[in-house]
Amino acid sequence: MINFTVGPVQSSEKVREIGAEQVPYFRTNEFSELMLENEKLMLKFSAAPDGSKAVFITGSGTAAMEAAILNTLTSSDKVLVVNGGSFGQRFVELLTLHEIPFTEIKLDQGKQVTKNMLAPYNGGGYTAFVVNAHETSTGVYYDMNLISDFCKRNKLFLVVDSISSFLADEFNMEKLGASVMITGSQKALACPPGISIIVLAPAALKRVQNSKVKCMYLDLKDAIKNMERGQTPFTPAVGILRQIHERLLCIDKDGGVSAEIQKIADLARYFRQEIKELPFEVVSESLSNAVTPLHPTTASAYDIFTILKDEYGIWVCPNGGKLKTSVFRVGHIGLLTKDDYDTLISAFKDLQKRGII
Ligand SMILES: *Cc1c(COP(=O)(O)O)cnc(C)c1O
Repeated sequence: MINFTVGPVQSSEKVREIGAEQVPYFRTNEFSELMLENEKLMLKFSAAPDGSKAVFITGSGTAAMEAAILNTLTSSDKVLVVNGGSFGQRFVELLTLHEIPFTEIKLDQGKQVTKNMLAPYNGGGYTAFVVNAHETSTGVYYDMNLISDFCKRNKLFLVVDSISSFLADEFNMEKLGASVMITGSQKALACPPGISIIVLAPAALKRVQNSKVKCMYLDLKDAIKNMERGQTPFTPAVGILRQIHERLLCIDKDGGVSAEIQKIADLARYFRQEIKELPFEVVSESLSNAVTPLHPTTASAYDIFTILKDEYGIWVCPNGGKLKTSVFRVGHIGLLTKDDYDTLISAFKDLQKRGII
């Protein structure tokens, strides 16, 4: 099998080896040290400002999205939220559920946020801005510099879901003035699913300390307090945290976050170059390095996904909902090589020869 989905993705051999080991007991100095190192590297790789902290939540990315909304926003906020697909929609649902006032910036499929779209909200009394840096469902990578400028001018508290973009696209929390950054274990971190990570800048830590959260498991005050000694309030996914440790150390040793981004960007560029002759349209105004969203002009996207999986042992990423038959995605994160893309492109050419696409 070759997996080109956007998560879970393929892991390195070392990460997989850790997955095969016994899971150790974790209330120990050894595990605390590992966790503090995880925190240090997460703060480094997200370019978090001084005084920031990271917490590790056992739960998929959505747990961290919900924890961030619950702990840093209240009913006194007035939030702007970008909704360009299913992950933007998830933030809209979380804000609705937790009764936080918001205005939705709704985008058509594949569209970028523009200056003109933000202009009507200038000076509109907003307090916070919530966005997925990369809307993975449609493959649109938002103009984070534009959003950052808008937030700085309007003094907005910026919450960024970087789940699929962290380690794939440049992300500098300090430069962007982002107060919250969220990511997850199964995207470019290339570990099994089960852990999500929240990096909190000082402005976010202050909001967390003042919040009155009606939730025990996702109360970040408790998580932050425990993390001071490298621990978590409840039993975490110990094995995955050990795998994340291995992966973070490996990235650090191999040239750091910029080298990792470069590697993913090179694969994305190679794939996009090689498919130019195939009957596919790229359906995003602005691409992340993490994924290429494709509209096949001669066949159903879902049929292509199924045939590649069943007959070629290749997994591309299907879309759900309205886009099920019109769009599939090819990921560039996880353990992949140019040879893997050559195999995928040969399979596409074979589908062409067979008259399927
Ligand atoms: C994958 C992803 C999530 C998290 O989804 P989970 O299934 O809860 O891990 C959230 N936001 C974006 C942009 C994602 O790509």
